[in-house]
Amino acid sequence: MGKSIKLFRINGIPIGLHPSWFIIFLFLTWSLANGYFADQGLSLPFAGIWALGIATSLLFFGSVLAHELGHAFVALRNNIPVKSISLFFLGGVAQIEREPRAPGEEFRIAIAGPMVSLTLAVIFNSLSQFSAGLPYLAAAFDYLGRVNLLLGAFNLIPGFPMDGGRILRALIWKLTGDNYRATRAASFTGQLVAFGFIAFGVFNVITGNLMNGIWMGFIGLFLLNLAGSAAAQANLQQKLDGVNVEQVMNRYYPSITGETTIAQLVSNTLAVNAQGTYLVVDPGTPPGILTLGEIARVPRHLWNQIRAREVMKPLERLVQISPDTPLLTALQEMEAADLRFVPVLEGFQVKGILSREQVHNYLRLRTQLG
Ligand SMILES: [Zn+2]
Repeated sequence: MGKSIKLFRINGIPIGLHPSWFIIFLFLTWSLANGYFADQGLSLPFAGIWALGIATSLLFFGSVLAHELGHAFVALRNNIPVKSISLFFLGGVAQIEREPRAPGEEFRIAIAGPMVSLTLAVIFNSLSQFSAGLPYLAAAFDYLGRVNLLLGAFNLIPGFPMDGGRILRALIWKLTGDNYRATRAASFTGQLVAFGFIAFGVFNVITGNLMNGIWMGFIGLFLLNLAGSAAAQANLQQKLDGVNVEQVMNRYYPSITGETTIAQLVSNTLAVNAQGTYLVVDPGTPPGILTLGEIARVPRHLWNQIRAREVMKPLERLVQISPDTPLLTALQEMEAADLRFVPVLEGFQVKGILSREQVHNYLRLRTQLG
């Protein structure tokens, strides 16, 4: 998902709106004002109906935010930092810094959101009873009570990525002690749920309910995608579990001294190292890395004067990977920094080089060997 527009912070958590949220906000406000409130036969002027629509719509998204804050606060209480909460056209998402490390943590964080929604359902429903004398207020509260009930119930469906899927994962994790197996099971039920949505969508389209059908199908595809990638991630994690960088890194790598001029490099070594990546190593100084990119930026008439040290990328600016870094961590950091390879360091000493290609080769090998 792309960039969100930052609104404000709650307990230090940045709250943002994805651009797609505005579309759904307008759509919901319009359908409330034009459909739901108009159909109640309320004696309200045009502007009043729209004001009611906007207020109800805002309270609905406030409810979605409260649901996500439920997850976020419990995560914080379990010492898991929360990166952000953002609202988008299918609801909200609270991004936490790391996955829970124990099934209990996972369970508490997952159940907190639906609990908030179900509590809000009860509150709005009571408000609607109390305001029976003011029909337009009662109608708004009644709507909010029902959507919060729906929000809580929908999220309790036991398939990943729904909260219910996380609860299921926590239970299987607790029972079997196997996090990966639990993730695969929750992803599997998540895929079943997603197929259910798609089938229901197709059924709606066939029976002439086009808009509903497309919407259901879209939600189904969205869920299928998330459930599938959770399963793939669990498989990857399991394969890389317990493997360190040292076991996969290449101990042989082209290196040059910082004194080497670009002219020397191009005429002597470039032909034998088609990848065009060099470690620049001098005893006692921090090493650097030199790629074709840096070499290409040096004007040709300066090739005789410019030395490797002057144009190399100092290693402090790159990802820090050591031989005992878990391979999965290394892979994630390389992907986050968009690096194809990283030097493996112990202090300033280069121990080897790790490329994403090597990790993928290793994975392929592990898959073939079973
Ligand atoms: Zn939730």
